Amino acid sequence: MSAEPASVWDVVIVGAGPAGLFAARALAGKLRVLVLEEKGRTGGAGAMTDGKLNLSPHIGLDLTELGLSETEAGEKIAAIDEVFLEHGADRALYGVDQERINWWLDRVSWVRHRTARGDWDITLVPARQRHMGTDLAHRVVARMTDSIAGKGVAFSLRTWVTDLALQDDGTFLLRTARGEFRSRYVVAAPGREGAYWFREVARGIGARTQYGAIDIGCRVEVAQPVYDEITQVLYDPKFLFVTPTHGDRTRTFCTNPGGRVRVEMRNGYRLVNGDALKKKKTPNTNFAILNTVSMTEPVQDTTEMGRKVMEFANFWGGGDSLVVQRWGDLTEGSRSKAETFHSAALGYDKMTPTLPLGPGVTPGDISYAYPGRIVDNLRESLLLLSRVIPGVAHPSTTVYVPEIKFYDTKYATDRNLETNVPNLFVAGDGVGKSRGIVGAALNGILAAEGILRKEGKG
Ligand SMILES: Cc1cc2nc3c(=O)[nH]c(=O)nc-3n(C[C@H](O)[C@H](O)[C@H](O)COP(=O)(O)OP(=O)(O)OC[C@H]3O[C@@H](n4cnc5c(N)ncnc54)[C@H](O)[C@@H]3O)c2cc1C
Repeated sequence: MSAEPASVWDVVIVGAGPAGLFAARALAGKLRVLVLEEKGRTGGAGAMTDGKLNLSPHIGLDLTELGLSETEAGEKIAAIDEVFLEHGADRALYGVDQERINWWLDRVSWVRHRTARGDWDITLVPARQRHMGTDLAHRVVARMTDSIAGKGVAFSLRTWVTDLALQDDGTFLLRTARGEFRSRYVVAAPGREGAYWFREVARGIGARTQYGAIDIGCRVEVAQPVYDEITQVLYDPKFLFVTPTHGDRTRTFCTNPGGRVRVEMRNGYRLVNGDALKKKKTPNTNFAILNTVSMTEPVQDTTEMGRKVMEFANFWGGGDSLVVQRWGDLTEGSRSKAETFHSAALGYDKMTPTLPLGPGVTPGDISYAYPGRIVDNLRESLLLLSRVIPGVAHPSTTVYVPEIKFYDTKYATDRNLETNVPNLFVAGDGVGKSRGIVGAALNGILAAEGILRKEGKG
């Protein structure tokens, strides 16, 4: 079906990430659906980068916010997994060897302590996981897109939606450089990249939003043998921490065994991220430690806070650069320097970072580049982790900032993600409803089910 600007579509989906694709898949063949995507390809952010599938209702989703029971979410996640498998995802499943998982849980139980408020300072949350890898994820997403298009959904790529307006007759008008599109329903799945663009246009047509928490953290890189023992059982181990000094909550996120640390550009600034290929491995493993920050008074704007932290960290890197520091330097209170970055005397020759120093990657001091409380939390989290996995606190361990997850705008919606603007549905990370591929996909399905129910086809 061609993306004809003049016609009125039943549903226009903005964004072809996992949220948009799974919404399109659920609507395919039932309604006339058009997907508008700015990029020249589908798959969105992470589905095209690392493609770890977290198959747990407790990861990447807020069941209370979505009004879902664990069983309902579990069934939907199993169906999502099946779709990825049908389109060629690797069948190897992590997080299923209960005996070895119990061994890890036992190990954590021996080293953890109660904080002053009665929480455990370190907790391990096991989850079933699959890994596609950046190389395989491309092919899986391409096959999935072909099968959705084969069922009649139209895709218009390289089409940035600039504006969304509500017409007098209740339909939506979407403006793009390729023309205007009209639609009875909109599913907005703009991801983190389009989150602020969408927030402005959604507010413009009366959608209610509020600021949610933002995750600010660092990327940690270690030699692969340090982390292998656990990643062979739990590919992306989820440790939750409550930090001793401030009692704040942090967690490990997006672990990439044999992976690469990557630069992610955002509005002209550099963020750090990581991925792994399925076939070609590096000798290192990287993961993030994220600190969840909520704000009340005098400022609630977590978006602006994240922007300022990103901007200042890049400034501290010399203007437009990540700041990278060896753990040995950080614990000594010294900045890292190019001259000593690989020093054998300091033990830094034990691990060569996958993101080399150079333009955009500057050795320095994260305790200057980042807010003090966040640095305390990140340091204490790594030390807590080192109780379970001692090698993570080796001097050669490398810490990169800024790593920030901009999914901090929340929308008031019903159970099917319909906003207070009738027929405007939202889905995925960009609208604060998910934090990961599977959660985003589940959102897309919920939105599609909501539309089908309204159409009497549910
Ligand atoms: C490097 C990296 C690695 C990651 N690895 C993993 C992982 O292994 N596992 C995991 O679960 N998660 C991972 N993530 C997170 C994951 O990518 C996201 O959780 C997921 O993609 C969110 O899906 P989404 O559909 O909500 O948004 P996205 O995937 O971000 O898709 C949104 C799409 O909307 C498009 N868009 C935005 N605004 C407009 C507009 N105005 N007009 C037209 N198009 C627009 C964007 O171009 C984008 O393609 C990773 C993220 C990154 C960046």
